[in-house]
Amino acid sequence: MNPNQQAGPDTSDIIRIENLVKYFAVRRGVFGEKKNQVKAVDDISFNIKKGETLGLVGESGCGKTTTGRVILRLIEPTSGSVFFEDENLSELNKREMKEIRQDMQIIFQDPCSALNPRMTVGTTIAESLRINKVGDPNNYRDIVFELLKKVGLRDFHSNRYPHEFSGGQLQRIGIARALILKPKFIVCDEPVSALDVSVQSQVLNILKDLQEEFGLTYLFIAHNLAVVEHISDRVAVMYLGKIIELADGDDLYMNPLHPYTQALMSAIPIPDPTLERRRVILEGDVPSSEDIPSGCRFHQRCAIAVDQCKIESPPLVEKDHQHKVACWLVT
Ligand code: SF4
Repeated sequence: MNPNQQAGPDTSDIIRIENLVKYFAVRRGVFGEKKNQVKAVDDISFNIKKGETLGLVGESGCGKTTTGRVILRLIEPTSGSVFFEDENLSELNKREMKEIRQDMQIIFQDPCSALNPRMTVGTTIAESLRINKVGDPNNYRDIVFELLKKVGLRDFHSNRYPHEFSGGQLQRIGIARALILKPKFIVCDEPVSALDVSVQSQVLNILKDLQEEFGLTYLFIAHNLAVVEHISDRVAVMYLGKIIELADGDDLYMNPLHPYTQALMSAIPIPDPTLERRRVILEGDVPSSEDIPSGCRFHQRCAIAVDQCKIESPPLVEKDHQHKVACWLVT
């Protein structure tokens, strides 16, 4: 390469997931004799490029939160592989995993669950530095002040306790806590779902600004397509443990191909009263992930299902430029 030529942004994969499966055993009956399996994540593969935000969307129970936790190895997969910067996480020992985990953090939907009510916010934010013996403890106070500023809080907030904050402020603290070890990749697990709409956009803007400043990569999990629209570069839609559509954000919102994505999209309100969108109402409830329908797992709710859909499961294949979909009728 010409030495005067500037290198472009690194768009290699930071995360690569191959055939990831996570089943949970369920025991029923007085003595736990009846055993079944919840197929929370059922053979999914995708990648996340450095610096991008991949939105992962689907109804409650579709497996998106489990996917995020398996990627971080907070729970072990049943099978399949997760690569972080080409390192196969399942091949790492405890010490290696502890080291790599500093680069991979999580922001929870309910920040309260991750904050100790008896610890001041400053102590909580600095806790990971102490546990991992990172840097000089004399500097922790300044590092915490700096992070609080970045998430829109003030120095004096570090001496307060979680119960003294609003939901939006608590989520800012959750973000500061996730950033303290300077991670490269963050799983944002429904970080704005419990917040008021006005506060949601503030928190999303903070996440966007921090991504730009620190070159972060996000897996942004949400049950609402409208929430991920403005933050995601690409969006993956999950249904009953499978990814059924994956595309660039603009492409997916302009041209959803899967009948399920089209139904989700039709529920997003248009902020222009002169425009109308035909709402697609899905029939029935999401089937149980203990009893997954044969063939296409969406066939019982799909208005255009044909016989083949009841028998054969459609693979996720590329139909258009980088636009993948799992449906027999999309050509
Ligand atoms: Fe509907 Fe069949 Fe496509 Fe599944 S494969 S989404 S049932 S048309």
